[in-house]
Amino acid sequence: MYIDETCVGCGLCVESCPLEAISLVEIQAVISKEICIECASCIDVCPLEAIHQED
Ligand code: SF4
Ligand code: SF4
Repeated sequence: MYIDETCVGCGLCVESCPLEAISLVEIQAVISKEICIECASCIDVCPLEAIHQED
């Protein structure tokens, strides 16, 4: 899971993550790879489609 540079730091994905794996660093959201279980629930909440599943 990763968040690209189009993220504006709105914080919606932070609240959507059941494991609290996403945090805001200034105006960019960052996913902790150690915590994330790839459940993908954060993808749909991003209004900018800035969250992507790695292949
Ligand atoms: S994929 Fe799931 S666990 Fe990972 S950051 Fe998104 S909501 Fe959180
Ligand atoms: S929902 Fe999208 S724009 Fe908002 S903080 Fe998360 S990745 Fe960034």
